[in-house]
Amino acid sequence: MLSTAPRAEPRAARLSITDRCDLACVYCRPHRRDGHLPAERRLAAAYWSTVVRGLTARGVRRIRITGGEPLVHPDVIEITRAIASVDGVEDLAITTNGTQLAALAGPLREAGVRRLNLSIDSLDPHRFFRITRGGRLSEVLAGLEAARRAGFELKTNTVVLGGEDGNEDELAAIAELAWAHEATPRFLELMSVGEGARIRGRIVPYARVRQHLAHLLADDEVARDADRGPAVYARARGGRRLGFITGTSDTFCSGCDRLRVSSDGQLRPCLATQDSVDISQAIRDGDVDAIGEGLSAAWAVKPGDDWGGCTEASAASVDMRATGG
Ligand code: SAM
Repeated sequence: MLSTAPRAEPRAARLSITDRCDLACVYCRPHRRDGHLPAERRLAAAYWSTVVRGLTARGVRRIRITGGEPLVHPDVIEITRAIASVDGVEDLAITTNGTQLAALAGPLREAGVRRLNLSIDSLDPHRFFRITRGGRLSEVLAGLEAARRAGFELKTNTVVLGGEDGNEDELAAIAELAWAHEATPRFLELMSVGEGARIRGRIVPYARVRQHLAHLLADDEVARDADRGPAVYARARGGRRLGFITGTSDTFCSGCDRLRVSSDGQLRPCLATQDSVDISQAIRDGDVDAIGEGLSAAWAVKPGDDWGGCTEASAASVDMRATGG
């Protein structure tokens, strides 16, 4: 039956400030040397606060900086500081692979980032290297410790991978590591989006992820944090928390209040479709009203409960590093 639930209002935006990344995780990017946007198409650093002014004028309140890898952008601190000072930004967060975080955690916190999500898929250096196609685990662990010291509200993101060289045997250890760093661990189902579609055979369903972690959980309940995206959280023993993002078992489209801006100024209403509205000229013109109009146009084509704009094929054709995950 079709749902008649009212469409959520746009409240959250993820800004992919660069499509570049120093890693090439097997579910995200085909290899380390795949193409990037030509420099002339990438938005200059100074434009990002203009983007945010256009979005907040239409009600967006929560901003997450992502990529690619946002910390390889040479101007990430300046971008962050400028966004933090825009009227209407109530929450500024960043998602990072952590490789540059040992040096940048303090400056990011000082620039106004309050919440930080760090991706970590294995605690075995060799497996970590293979999953990320070249990443050094020691750098990311140093980044996690620096983030703890800098005082972020901290979460870890682990994409659960089945099959040979998967990480199913490590989930409890990753949760313990996160807790030891005052972070909330979260476990993501592999989504059949972009590169993820090519390895969909490695999806580990939510029910099995929970089984791996059952001995750490206090009960069977999960709850969503109000105004905080698609994750659900369970109570773990010892008064701790643990989160799940079930992007495959549950599409969580209903109530989605999020949109994305790519590094070349495309406004995307949904992670799993190629629909976009080009606001790059409005951004370069500093035309805040036109950015807001772009937002309205993008929102009008956002798939909801009642519109199946997203298909397996549309999801598979998405480039995760451009859309920011
Ligand atoms: N480079 C940063 C990082 O590694 O966190 C930010 C960008 S990355 C695209 C953002 C998040 O998307 C990461 O936590 C990553 O694990 C997740 N991600 C990417 N592709 C995914 C997929 N196919 N399924 C589930 N999560 C995915």
